[in-house]
Amino acid sequence: MINVEALKRIVGDDWVVTKRDQITGYLADETYLGVLPKPAENVVVVKPANPEEISAILKLANEEKTPVYPRGGGTGLVGAAVPTRDGIVLSLERLDKVIEVDKDNMMIVSEAGVTLEHMLKEVENADLLFPPHPGDEGAQVGGMVACNAGGTRAVKYGVVRSYVKGLEVVLPTGEIVQMGGKLLKNNTGLDLIHLLIDSEGILGVITKATLKLYPKFGATATLVVSFEDRRAAIATVPKILQAGIIPMAIEYTEKSLMEETAVHVNMTWPAKQGKAQLIIIMAETNEDQLYGLCEQLSEICEKNSAVDILMAETTSEQAEILKIRSEVGNALKPKIADALDVTVPPAAIATILDEIDKVSQKYGIFIPVVGHAGDGNLHPNMYWEFEKKGVLKQAKQEIYEAAIQLGGVISGEHGIGKTRLPQFEMCFDPKQRELMLGVKKLFDPNNILSPDSAIC
Ligand SMILES: Cc1cc2nc3c(=O)[nH]c(=O)nc-3n(C[C@H](O)[C@H](O)[C@H](O)COP(=O)(O)OP(=O)(O)OC[C@H]3O[C@@H](n4cnc5c(N)ncnc54)[C@H](O)[C@@H]3O)c2cc1C
Repeated sequence: MINVEALKRIVGDDWVVTKRDQITGYLADETYLGVLPKPAENVVVVKPANPEEISAILKLANEEKTPVYPRGGGTGLVGAAVPTRDGIVLSLERLDKVIEVDKDNMMIVSEAGVTLEHMLKEVENADLLFPPHPGDEGAQVGGMVACNAGGTRAVKYGVVRSYVKGLEVVLPTGEIVQMGGKLLKNNTGLDLIHLLIDSEGILGVITKATLKLYPKFGATATLVVSFEDRRAAIATVPKILQAGIIPMAIEYTEKSLMEETAVHVNMTWPAKQGKAQLIIIMAETNEDQLYGLCEQLSEICEKNSAVDILMAETTSEQAEILKIRSEVGNALKPKIADALDVTVPPAAIATILDEIDKVSQKYGIFIPVVGHAGDGNLHPNMYWEFEKKGVLKQAKQEIYEAAIQLGGVISGEHGIGKTRLPQFEMCFDPKQRELMLGVKKLFDPNNILSPDSAIC
């Protein structure tokens, strides 16, 4: 039983929603329909205004052993925010203030419910930069930290983990704790911040984050490099990195997907040649440096069979390319049962693509691939035909096994959530699993926070 009356006393009547037709938007996330978990029947959505209310909700839930599902922007792709047991969806949407952009320390202090879109505007207004860019700007600061989001711009500056310097967290037992601060170095005690990053909502509710910012780049350019075949394109990626050129992003994609996506968003994909393409974003301190590196980069690509190199220099041309790339998932969605997120060591990226091709050939179904090639992170998109033929699970398993064989992992950025729990045991030995369960028990003795997610 969910104690609705007690919840109303904590947050006020207006912020507890019980009617099913008013909470449907909170019962799913952006997970592909072939694997989206079924939500529970009795779910209440609660919208607290501050950490103190969250603390009171968690104390109550802990006493009454009611499951609680923290919810950010609901843009997750592994069903982590879906309430699969009767309980409370705890929405962070009212914690929506940027507290401070500290230009001197180059840090932003933000409440957890601030969206990426809102945060990027504040950072831009302060003439600073937050490089990570997961594809949906509706993601919230707390969600991005809880998922350690990656995205297109991680090659040079890393994923969200590299930016988190401080957190305010409400523990499942109700205590409000402050971790870290505006510090670039902090070797004091065990690093709990990094335990919370990528905890997918199972260890605590993040209410505030202090994130590092960068000065804006002096000059940027976006190149779309076209190749006739996917292996030639992807095999070029390690060559670029080995030459000492570290772009902000190296994305792998396929021309037909980009054209289809461009139509979906009423735009035109500018690169007309080849079949497989790399989108390379270069960001340097000045134009001389930028053009020098772009020239070197072009030579490497030409030596590796590139058939065309398009260079976008204006801000709007570059933004259009990134926009189309960000929309690929949405455009493809109706045709896709699930999209994977395998990551391998950077030099093994061509081999994992070969393995994906083998699976595709074995089942006679094409697997379109996009991904963050510079990070060794690919997203093979599994068409509904796999599900219709009854081979989706098996085909996914074969791709996962190939990734692990190459020293990789089954998720580079989307996480385990609920949809990848069946593969959890293939990723960790029993001792690591025992340690993870022990940590969970220490934070959350009654297993109220996001049960059935991230670890098992
Ligand atoms: C079109 C599209 C493109 C995407 N591209 C990328 C990409 O390139 N890279 C990438 O990494 N991801 C990508 N994603 C996935 C998603 O945007 C990220 O995982 C994002 O970090 C999720 O944030 P959210 O606020 O939407 O979290 P939600 O989906 O609401 O929640 C995700 C998990 O975080 C937990 N959580 C949320 N807020 C909190 C909080 N305050 N405290 C504790 N736990 C919390 C939830 O309980 C849940 O377990 C994409 C998604 C879409 C739809």
